Amino acid sequence: MSRELIDVNGIIFKRKRYKEADVLSKVLTKENGIFTLDVRGALRPKSKLGAATLNFSYGIYTVNTSLRGISGLRTFKNVQQFEKIYLDITKQAYASYILDLVDHAFEEYQEISDVYGLVFTALTKINSGFDEEIIKQMIELKMLKYFGVAPKLDSCLVCHKTQGIFDFSLEKGGIVCSDHFNQVPERMHLNPKTVSLIRTLALIDIDRLGKININPTLKNSSKKVIDRMYTRYLDLNLKSKKFLDELKLF
Ligand SMILES: [Zn+2]
Repeated sequence: MSRELIDVNGIIFKRKRYKEADVLSKVLTKENGIFTLDVRGALRPKSKLGAATLNFSYGIYTVNTSLRGISGLRTFKNVQQFEKIYLDITKQAYASYILDLVDHAFEEYQEISDVYGLVFTALTKINSGFDEEIIKQMIELKMLKYFGVAPKLDSCLVCHKTQGIFDFSLEKGGIVCSDHFNQVPERMHLNPKTVSLIRTLALIDIDRLGKININPTLKNSSKKVIDRMYTRYLDLNLKSKKFLDELKLF
């Protein structure tokens, strides 16, 4: 395919020096998935392209691309930044991990369907002061299907009941209702509240998530289960996740 100029809705994440004064930025786009942009002269003082590609900037980017390899940034419009994320180390650690996770789920330029909207809303919510840990857990749960390993959280593995008291089995990859606890001996013996929180985060639309207050103990137990899902099903070992865990935020 020859190179052409296209407009994409994008969110900038990751940035590293390239050649003399260029920057290579990663961009998550609605139209063409995730790819790398060469931002020419970004490190020169007063570079407009440089200012428009700081981490956590978003807007419309006009790129020169053949939809493979590195694309070039030509110009941009309506660029804004998730400023509170940019300025706050905690929010930044959460946002970086979310973007890193999404980056690992797709090939370059691969169609990401509704993940752009999911990430955009997640960052908007983190930027406006929502509980970052809860947003992160929600994204982790919702991303499992894009890695091809989503456990069954909507209904009991045995009877497909959708309401009641549930436990979760890592091995069986799904939830089991209290009527069928004895049929799934590998169940984790979790507090039903933990399973309920995990199900809510996995199943509800991110737009419907309000500014909820979840107690740290509950949040920590759902975190542990989700961490175990990731270790067991994927073992990604992301540095951004390790960094986040080391911050010991709650
Ligand atoms: Zn059942």
